[in-house]
Amino acid sequence: MYNLLFSSDQKQALRMMRHLAAVMSMLAFTLLSIFFYHNDLFSIDEKTFIGILVFFWTGVFFHTVIIRSGLNKKYSDPSLTIPQMVWGTFFLLTITYLLNEWRGLILMAYFGMLSFGFFKLKFREFLSVALLAILGYGIIILYIFINEPERIHIKLELAQLLAFSCTVAVMLYTGSAIHRLRERTKKQYVALQEALEVNKKLATTDDLTGLYNRRYFMEKLAQQKALSERDDSDFVLCFCDLDHFKHINDTFGHQCGDIVLQKFSEILSASIREVDYAARFGGEEFVCLLVNTDIENAIKVTERIRDSLENYNFNDIAPSLHATVSIGISNFKQFNTLQETLMSADNRMYRAKNMGRNKVVFSDDEAVA
Ligand code: GH3
Ligand code: MG
Ligand code: MG
Repeated sequence: MYNLLFSSDQKQALRMMRHLAAVMSMLAFTLLSIFFYHNDLFSIDEKTFIGILVFFWTGVFFHTVIIRSGLNKKYSDPSLTIPQMVWGTFFLLTITYLLNEWRGLILMAYFGMLSFGFFKLKFREFLSVALLAILGYGIIILYIFINEPERIHIKLELAQLLAFSCTVAVMLYTGSAIHRLRERTKKQYVALQEALEVNKKLATTDDLTGLYNRRYFMEKLAQQKALSERDDSDFVLCFCDLDHFKHINDTFGHQCGDIVLQKFSEILSASIREVDYAARFGGEEFVCLLVNTDIENAIKVTERIRDSLENYNFNDIAPSLHATVSIGISNFKQFNTLQETLMSADNRMYRAKNMGRNKVVFSDDEAVA
């Protein structure tokens, strides 16, 4: 039954819930009209009465089918709020016509019906449906007054309609205030989400290079340690330090230095996989985390990084500008603690410096890639 009525699409399921609420109130109005009928408050025969009920319930079922089949998604308001309210209004107007001295009761039922559109409809839409109810009611009582004056107490009816109209006007005012408030809250929510995104980016990335910052990298490193311990995989840490960077700054200027940092970051990002992490650790020092990687593969990756920077052509910035990098790499499984792996990669990077720079060092003996 549930699957028959509700789609797996959450939005559609929600629309069906709203529709079922409307069906419930239609049921309440129907029971009320059956009560009226059995108490001889209607001036019609049984066949006509049943015909009217069947006619309006066919319309309700039609709405159910449209929403369940997904045909409603074609419309600008897929909840079909207005068509359902208009259908309900016509049902109430019909009962309005059939009733005699109890007619004023139907005005109360209109409140229930209008409340469906209270939060959902725009001001103009709500006004249109409310006007349909008021004008429809007005036309019906005038028609009865002209054609069957014995069935109506026109002064009382007009006074009731006036009171109803005033209350609807208040509803309209409150409704539009609520609508404006909701719109403002929606806008504020979107702005807040955007600000949160910006903040998140600021908190995790380095301004100059766009790489991750030290804090975020250390977070990811700790996560990776836990993952590696769980699935018994290895990862490699790479420490990169640009060579004689102070000299580059002094010779070509700080701005050129910044460009070198940015270019090196691009090389780093392009050389690692999506699952790996690269970060600026500070100044001209960078780190990489190569997940699920052994030292042999890490040597290949870091050699490629070292080679790419060495051969990078900075001609458009300064013709004689060249940059190189010294890299130290260590795998987690050799040390089993983050601190020791980091320290080892750092030491190996310093050894690369001592061995003449522009090198990848992957062990504590003289081995150089
Ligand atoms: P080594 O080969 O031994 O690493 O020598 P080095 O000159 O690279 O090392 P050192 O630590 O002496 O100098 C690092 C320089 O990096 C000094 C500092 O001004 C520069 N630096 C740090 N951050 C930035 C930055 O954001 N932009 C620029 N342009 N320079 C920076
Ligand atoms: Mg340094
Ligand atoms: Mg340096």
